[in-house]
Amino acid sequence: MNTLQSVPTLGTRPAAGGNPSRAETRELLARATYDLLVIGGGILGTSVAWHAAQSGLRVAMVDAGDFAGATSSASSKLVHGGLRYLQTGAVKLVAENHHERRVLAKDVAPHLVNPLTFHLPVYKGGPHGAGKLGAGVFAYSALSAFGDGVGRVISPKKAAAANPALRTEDLKAVAVYGDHQMNDSRVAVMTVRAAVQAGAVVLNHAEVTGLRSTRGRVTGAELRDRTDGSEFGVDARLVLNATGPWVDRLRRMEDPAADPSVRLSKGAHLVLRRRAPWRAAMATPIDKYRITFALPWEDQLLLGTTDEPYEGDPADVTATEADIRQILDEAAHSVRGEHLSRDLLTYAFAGLRVLPGGPGGVESAKRETVVSEGRGGMLSVAGGKWTTYRHIGRTVLDKLAKLPGGGALAASAEGEDAVSVRELVRRTPLPGLANPNAVAHRLLMEGAPGVRMDPPTARQLATHYGSLAFDIARLVNEDPALGERIHPDGPEIWAQVVYARDHEWAETADDVLRRRTTLTIRGLDTEDVRARVEKLLGERGEGQG
Ligand SMILES: Cc1cc2nc3c(=O)[nH]c(=O)nc-3n(C[C@H](O)[C@H](O)[C@H](O)COP(=O)(O)OP(=O)(O)OC[C@H]3O[C@@H](n4cnc5c(N)ncnc54)[C@H](O)[C@@H]3O)c2cc1C
Repeated sequence: MNTLQSVPTLGTRPAAGGNPSRAETRELLARATYDLLVIGGGILGTSVAWHAAQSGLRVAMVDAGDFAGATSSASSKLVHGGLRYLQTGAVKLVAENHHERRVLAKDVAPHLVNPLTFHLPVYKGGPHGAGKLGAGVFAYSALSAFGDGVGRVISPKKAAAANPALRTEDLKAVAVYGDHQMNDSRVAVMTVRAAVQAGAVVLNHAEVTGLRSTRGRVTGAELRDRTDGSEFGVDARLVLNATGPWVDRLRRMEDPAADPSVRLSKGAHLVLRRRAPWRAAMATPIDKYRITFALPWEDQLLLGTTDEPYEGDPADVTATEADIRQILDEAAHSVRGEHLSRDLLTYAFAGLRVLPGGPGGVESAKRETVVSEGRGGMLSVAGGKWTTYRHIGRTVLDKLAKLPGGGALAASAEGEDAVSVRELVRRTPLPGLANPNAVAHRLLMEGAPGVRMDPPTARQLATHYGSLAFDIARLVNEDPALGERIHPDGPEIWAQVVYARDHEWAETADDVLRRRTTLTIRGLDTEDVRARVEKLLGERGEGQG
């Protein structure tokens, strides 16, 4: 049994090539004038920072909490075309989403984005008939040129063979289609890394408390480092407000009279231990608009989501007891009861959709990106989908280039080379691009003498870090104690904590346990584990932190 005393000690040395310390980063941020300051390090801000840095601009990005600590780690983890949107006739939107999904899965992040087969069960008395759903999944698959197979209808018997948890009473047929899924917080941190490799300077746990302005135009921000309370400022020619659910709060810093631009809707999810392997996910229509998902994810079962108007402080959003009950009740439409028992629940979380204002219920509101330009020239952008984050990043960059102060951006988008730069940016992979099967195989075969990695750990590293997993294996080879599991019931090892601290901007135990690894979602972040992670984080080497 691991004890506090047995925490490996390698972590006291800063890893070679690790991130600069927070003090150094603050200094870098305060010293220069940036072409672009991105406020908000969710996936949307990170995407813009990545694309802008790739275009050669001097970019800074800050987040009040952890990167992807809000909405971007609270999604349904789907990289999808959005079957539901077909109902509203949004054919072009679905085709665009499919295109981005396939580029992500094929070129940009094949090591992090995985194919997933979906079953859409049709029950007697359900909101849609088998004919309609069959036609829907066929059209859906046609819009991605049948790249994931042909959407079709199968018998309940065949569906139950792929997924023994499927409730078969009153089941008439099952429609089948293909999409993808990911670990959203891991893809986000890999995208932050891509932005930094392209030259962006980033700092998490640094909150914007006010905006700087010059002759009425927003030209920077005042910040407070939440880890030690220190205050500093950043100057920039352009400022992007990518603060998701906080978007109007930042807009009011620019113009106290700014009208609300968005409304919020809460979506909660549950994670449960899985009792059997699932070879297909379930997407079950609850009513005309809503679908409830039951997804195999991280060897667990992910259930959700809800869709309720939310008016409180975005920082306070949580999954309530009522949310938990609703999600379990809705899942029971198609999942057998024994797979939904409360003692299997390991984690519950909630996030906020940012929706355009307007009439009608939140469940029928369009999932569009909301963009507005404020009185002081700050561009605010929120909403949209994880799936299309690269597309949103490029679109926002184009808008920024047209603003006064966007000269450097406009220059990077013009001239003979501009087309090829854009093309390059379109296909640039995330760090660690590799075939995860080959990475896992090498991890199993190539340990130092006496150091053996077990297969679930090798698989976990390969599918969450790609070829960067070899850097983690190197830590283990240097100090075999770092190869021990953090918790006996999860595949993750201590080297990942050291790596998260030195290379992935992890500052708090939650950064490590909830977002760099899957310990929290598996319900394995015990007090002992937390204390040991905090100890390792505190042992950052000289000059770090
Ligand atoms: C329940 C739910 C399920 C979803 N499922 C999917 C899905 O399966 N597939 C899909 O494609 N999309 C999905 N989405 C949509 C997707 O998750 C979002 O579009 C995306 O995460 C939005 O990212 P963002 O960067 O705009 O916001 P956020 O991730 O919320 O980032 C905003 C950041 O701004 C920071 N911030 C706020 N105030 C300040 C300040 N003063 N100073 C500095 N930083 C600040 C916050 O700390 C936060 O990290 C889902 C959304 C929800 C809510």
